[in-house]
Amino acid sequence: MDRRKFIVGAGLTALAAASPISLDAANKRGKRINVNHRGKSGKLKLSFEPYELKLRHAFNLARYSRTTTPDVQVKLEYDGIVGYGEASMPPYLGESVESVTKFLSSLDLEQFTDPFRIEDILTYVDNVAPNNRAAKASVDIALHDLLGKIMGQPWYKIWGLNPEKTPVTSMTIGIDTEEKVRQKVEECRGFKLIKVKMGLDKDQETINIIREMMPDVPICVDVNQGWKSKEHGLEMCHWLAERNCWFVEQPFDKEMIDETAWLRERSPLPIIADEAFQRLPDIVRFKGVYDGINIKLMKSTGLHEAYKMVTLARALDMKVMVGCMTETSCGVTAAANLSPLVDYADLDGNLLIANDRFSGMTVENGKITLHDIPGIGIKLLAGK
Ligand code: MG
Repeated sequence: MDRRKFIVGAGLTALAAASPISLDAANKRGKRINVNHRGKSGKLKLSFEPYELKLRHAFNLARYSRTTTPDVQVKLEYDGIVGYGEASMPPYLGESVESVTKFLSSLDLEQFTDPFRIEDILTYVDNVAPNNRAAKASVDIALHDLLGKIMGQPWYKIWGLNPEKTPVTSMTIGIDTEEKVRQKVEECRGFKLIKVKMGLDKDQETINIIREMMPDVPICVDVNQGWKSKEHGLEMCHWLAERNCWFVEQPFDKEMIDETAWLRERSPLPIIADEAFQRLPDIVRFKGVYDGINIKLMKSTGLHEAYKMVTLARALDMKVMVGCMTETSCGVTAAANLSPLVDYADLDGNLLIANDRFSGMTVENGKITLHDIPGIGIKLLAGK
């Protein structure tokens, strides 16, 4: 055996030992693998820059309105391979460009010479400071992108998931004037599920417009904590159930636990938690309060914990939804890798912005479509 073949062989054997990927799969993709990835000289290098997301439409929710979302784009490099990540910071989560850059600046990832030590690396990142969930997610996403590229495989394959089992994704219609709602409904043609933001005084009016324009497409509603009384919530759930609605997300203030449990007992529609939780330990107390959870990478600190959330929710016999913030295709595609495991998906954040930097997962005939691209499954667009 010549020296080069020996080195490639040794590298693949080491890779197979270090990861759940079969040696067969690694051999078939051998040329994509950097055999030096476990070399002692390798170091994880983190870099980042602010990137303001421009929204295609003003985003009006029950509690606020905005036209941009602050975001930080992240790169994690190891032996010449680059993984991409991002932190998106809608204001209600309490993070900002300043807090994210401060957190990322405080990290010393160069201490890690083996990028496959996911537990060690992400536990270190999590323990540097509390909160900072989007900042932590940006490192987790970039690490997953990097590792998938080193292994030459997309993460849905690494997790053993069937890409045929992806759900449809909803497209979101915000709270708006009748003219704007009609315009948005037109833009939603082709989607197989419409998500409607609620919680102000125009809930029924908005649904009536959508039902008139699209009588057959199922809807789901996100109240964003906007309903004030349990009686009104129950009345609305019955009204929505008669209009082909699949579920209701976060009907009441996250502190209204008793009212939510009361509604869940009586509602004909599943009640899904969103603002009510952030991290994995929060979910245990939801049994009997919510029927399901909406996992978002910017809350869960990324894919590693999001996967654990799916497992825990299933063990509690709860439904699982995967959602997103307004994000580029980087964050949205990362989350899409998990989608074959979930009941519902709301992965339209990249479609709501005008300045995406990546191509990634696509929506075809309303369904999330994963592509065979190593890592989280994205490509940087030319000139970005
Ligand atoms: Mg929500």
